[in-house]
Amino acid sequence: MRNIPSITPARVLVAAVLGMLTAVSVAQAQIFVTEREVLRQARYQWMQQKRTFPVPDDPRIQRYAECIAYQIIDRLDEDFQNLAWEVVVFDSPAKNASADPTGKIAIYTGILEVADSPDALAAVIGHEIAHVTEDHIMKRVRRGRRNELLAIGGGLVVGMPNTAREMSMVYLTLPYGREQETDADIVGLDYMANAGFDPRASIYLWKNLTEAEGDSDRNEFLSSHPSNQNRINNLVQNLTPALITYNEAREAGVRPNCRLSY
Ligand SMILES: [Zn+2]
Repeated sequence: MRNIPSITPARVLVAAVLGMLTAVSVAQAQIFVTEREVLRQARYQWMQQKRTFPVPDDPRIQRYAECIAYQIIDRLDEDFQNLAWEVVVFDSPAKNASADPTGKIAIYTGILEVADSPDALAAVIGHEIAHVTEDHIMKRVRRGRRNELLAIGGGLVVGMPNTAREMSMVYLTLPYGREQETDADIVGLDYMANAGFDPRASIYLWKNLTEAEGDSDRNEFLSSHPSNQNRINNLVQNLTPALITYNEAREAGVRPNCRLSY
């Protein structure tokens, strides 16, 4: 997934980010962005999003998502457990979810249509948590310092941002690379299984998303994940260890009880 709220705002946001970019030479484009600046920008964006984006009328949806997320978070290594996690469901048709490097996870109601069971939503959330714990955005920031800025966005970026703030926005907004997506898939699979969610649901989720893509152009989650069949194959290959982890967790009494209705 990518760090973009929903289809319309996403396009506006991407347009805004690209609008900031000016065609300067690579030689001029060595903008030094510290991780601290990216974190500051992430916090600002998260506050803005919470202020401006609607949330679902039914508070049970928020509780349901939190139940799943904390079932996973509470079983992470202690260092990761102690991040300032926050999970918020936003009301948007986008079939999407995102996480920023500070541990703020956004889930858009559109994705609940395809992630339509606790296990499937756990696959989405596990994937997002893995982007955070694997430090994916900051790895891009550090790579960027080694003058590889042009690679960001898979060639989408034709110019360069002018300020560290604009550059931070680029890091927080543009899609992850394929390698990081695969990484988040595999780590996320382990996280969900360890929390007692059935890892087979991840394959169901991706098939569902692929089908949903056929009748909708609103599928941001997929649009940032170009190679869906490879992705499903990759998940299948990693399913056996995840199933072992899942069975061990279940036998140890880890049985999540997250439901939309009580
Ligand atoms: Zn992702």
